[in-house]
Amino acid sequence: MMDPQGGIQGIGMTSRRTRDRLVQRLRDQGIRSEAVLDQIRNVPRHLFVDEALASRAYEDTALPIGLGQTISQPYVVARMTEALLDGFQGETVLEIGTGCGYQTAVLAPLVKKIYTVERIPELLRKTRQRLRDLDIYNVQFRPGDGWEGWRKYGPYDGIIVAAAAAEIPEKLLQQLAPGGRLVIPIGPPGRQDLTMVTKMNDHCEQVSLEPVSFVPLVKGK
Ligand code: SAH
Repeated sequence: MMDPQGGIQGIGMTSRRTRDRLVQRLRDQGIRSEAVLDQIRNVPRHLFVDEALASRAYEDTALPIGLGQTISQPYVVARMTEALLDGFQGETVLEIGTGCGYQTAVLAPLVKKIYTVERIPELLRKTRQRLRDLDIYNVQFRPGDGWEGWRKYGPYDGIIVAAAAAEIPEKLLQQLAPGGRLVIPIGPPGRQDLTMVTKMNDHCEQVSLEPVSFVPLVKGK
């Protein structure tokens, strides 16, 4: 059997059928954007986890990636990407919590440019190489504290945060363009809500989408 994406042939764990099954599951759970579902199908998630876990890469579950971090669950990545891009008219996105870069890879072909911030430099180094190997070039990386955002290239049309904060980081709101959207898990461990904030001229509109479970957005370096 030929696998057009994974390069591992005849094993089945990265096969078209395995990926289609994941896409169908996300569809059943309410993901509607075909562009996002296509990305879930196309991005080789097995290349973002340790080889020992590759056989589980197309299960809809978070997995450990070392250094105490996880690769996000495909459903959550799809949901956040869909929420960010619904009605999106801009070009630039700020991502906080790059991790292994799976969310980055799903989003990259759907926007013009991603600026991504990760506090663990070692993780970022590997991720930068991984995305390059996957021919993803519209991403700029920065080791640093996501609470600070990345002022230099702002304001951003969208901001997506892959770690949970107790409250909405003020600096991220400041770096969001008018009409822009911020998608972020808010709340303490065990009680986080995936939250969507839209910045209007004189106020922000905030909607809770659903309960989620993320690692905390660590304060400071
Ligand atoms: N986006 C990843 C999941 C990342 S998990 C995926 O697609 O699978 C959350 C990441 O946020 C971890 O890598 C963690 O190191 C990072 N993180 C936590 N606090 C941070 C902070 N204050 N600034 C930047 N990154 C942070």
